[in-house]
Amino acid sequence: MKVAINGFGTIGKRIADAVSKQPDMEVIGVSKTRPNYEALVAIEKGYKLYVPKDKIKKFEEHGFEVRGSIEELINIADIVIDATPAGVGAKNKNLYIKFNKPAIFQGGEKSKVADISFNAMCNYEKAIGKRYVRVVSCNTTGLLRIISILEKAFGVKRVFATIIRRGADPKEIKKGPINAIVLDPPHIPSHHALDVQSVLPHIPISTVALAVPTTLMHIHVVRIELSKEVNEKDIVDILEKSPRILLVEAEKYGVKSTAELIEWARDLGRSRYDIPELIVWMDTISVTDGKIVTLIQGVHQESIVIPDNIDAIRAILKIATRAIDSMRITDESLGLKRWW
Ligand code: NAD
Repeated sequence: MKVAINGFGTIGKRIADAVSKQPDMEVIGVSKTRPNYEALVAIEKGYKLYVPKDKIKKFEEHGFEVRGSIEELINIADIVIDATPAGVGAKNKNLYIKFNKPAIFQGGEKSKVADISFNAMCNYEKAIGKRYVRVVSCNTTGLLRIISILEKAFGVKRVFATIIRRGADPKEIKKGPINAIVLDPPHIPSHHALDVQSVLPHIPISTVALAVPTTLMHIHVVRIELSKEVNEKDIVDILEKSPRILLVEAEKYGVKSTAELIEWARDLGRSRYDIPELIVWMDTISVTDGKIVTLIQGVHQESIVIPDNIDAIRAILKIATRAIDSMRITDESLGLKRWW
């Protein structure tokens, strides 16, 4: 299947690399709007570069080989992944309608941009054959993974989560905070609760979000009230077998921070030190009153949504009819935690 990546930034370049590793799809081209170092990376990695029609000359003056306009790229694709900045995707939708192409949008877009908000572990089957699918944001993906696993195993009555957000991605030089803890947003619930409900509408959930001066990862303190009585071991056992969740032992291995987690990913030689799995600190899992589970989890914002984008392609194009089949191909090809 021919996949076009519209927007080759933090998310787009990772999706392009992930698509390239799949046995059943290929990247036919990526788009850039500025002739910067990321455009250079695209060329050096062998991706065909497409740019807005009125910028072809500018890119060529910078020495880039341009294959054509963004419209031309969309025209030859079986599916488009829109990974442009938040809000641009909605504007691009007319283009996808014009060329009659299915498209995947990212979490920065409003949920109404798509027929369905998507997370592979929650609602893969509902996205099969859909035209427009939105892969929810990094924080929402992390919340959905833990909620959906505990929901299937024990039933979930209600959720409360405190989200400590990274202030910016590592490459961003104009975002902050640099020296503050920001109420982000200054009201409760934050939009993440509504976003979780865009995929799992029946889950009562409230969220609070604060932005802090770091670029590495988000941290969530999650409290979930279950329908059944459990103990800590029940939770560990279920998470150990679950796809896309990595249990980390903070005390035993000295991994008590996002910095050490990222160092671990760097030491393992993971591409761009990515951690697409949700991290759950095993030591923090605690059960009170039999049914209330509290834990701390970590979200690598730049990469957690990448596997879900790959699965969304298979769902839309009906390449796999069961989530588990698509997720296995995705996770095996990306070298993620082995759960199958
Ligand atoms: P980014 O700014 O890193 O990359 C966006 C890319 O789109 C850039 O290469 C830019 O040149 C290009 N672009 C800009 N305008 C364009 C246009 N009109 N047409 C084509 N390309 C255009 O952004 P990002 O962080 O990769 O975010 C992309 C989407 O993914 C957003 O919806 C965001 O909310 C979502 N998302 C981001 C993260 C994250 O941590 N960065 C995590 C999950 C989801």
